[in-house]
Amino acid sequence: MHIISRAEWGARAPESRSTVPWSKRTVFMGHYSAASATQTPRQIQDYHMRVRGWSDVGYNFLINSITGHIYEGRGWTTLGAHCADHNTEAIGVCIIGKDQAGRQDVSDAARRAFKWLYDEANNRKGRRLTLLGHRDRGSTSCPGDEIYSWLKAGLPIVGSSTPQPSQPTPKPGGTRPAPGTPVAFPLPAGWYFGPPSGPDYSVSGLYERYFRGRTDRAWLREWATQLSRRGWSVGQSKRWLGGAGNDGVYGPEYRALAEAFQRDQRLHVDGLIGRNTWDAAFRNPVT
Ligand SMILES: [Zn+2]
Repeated sequence: MHIISRAEWGARAPESRSTVPWSKRTVFMGHYSAASATQTPRQIQDYHMRVRGWSDVGYNFLINSITGHIYEGRGWTTLGAHCADHNTEAIGVCIIGKDQAGRQDVSDAARRAFKWLYDEANNRKGRRLTLLGHRDRGSTSCPGDEIYSWLKAGLPIVGSSTPQPSQPTPKPGGTRPAPGTPVAFPLPAGWYFGPPSGPDYSVSGLYERYFRGRTDRAWLREWATQLSRRGWSVGQSKRWLGGAGNDGVYGPEYRALAEAFQRDQRLHVDGLIGRNTWDAAFRNPVT
């Protein structure tokens, strides 16, 4: 997942900032803006700086409740202004939108983004931060009942992040269904696992980028592991990935494996692992 940087959303420079070390961070706190989801981070920043007189937008991060886009606010280690007396220990994340009774205002995409950011914070901290809503530490209804109850439930994701594909229909001729549990393609639409020399959407594992809470390396290993579940000889000193093993860094060995699998599956053979090649490993019967 991608955090839209301050430069990308056109933030004003902060008037001042002070740093909080990770050792003092213990809380991950949810807020909401209680205003239209069309509000931009820049509008919130302008309000905080011009009307409230703060040095910057108050939150450490902001997430649009509909699109799930994540915006950098003050960032991980800058002191925020989102919960009086608790800004040192708490990383404050604002979900941009309203809480309207009787409907789900926070999309599955926004929930996944929030959870991803929480997982990312825990990874950086090295242990779990306490998950709180603003109302746990201030006299406010923030972050609204919908988000608050979701936080208290531990951020369950019920949406389509791991779609339940229909059972593969066995083809005549005795082909067996794919083994294992289907795993949804983890990259954005149009992206693929490919060489590091490629464009931004060619994800190689070399730079350990995070997608849906795991590194690209872990995902690429997951795909190759699925091929071994299907009976392919994959791993160090095996037929495929025999040199470096299943290390999750795309190179000539992964390309050769992907090409062989694409040929086997009668897919377009380009050696790049996009959605079709990914899904075929989990959904198509073993041929
Ligand atoms: Zn709040």
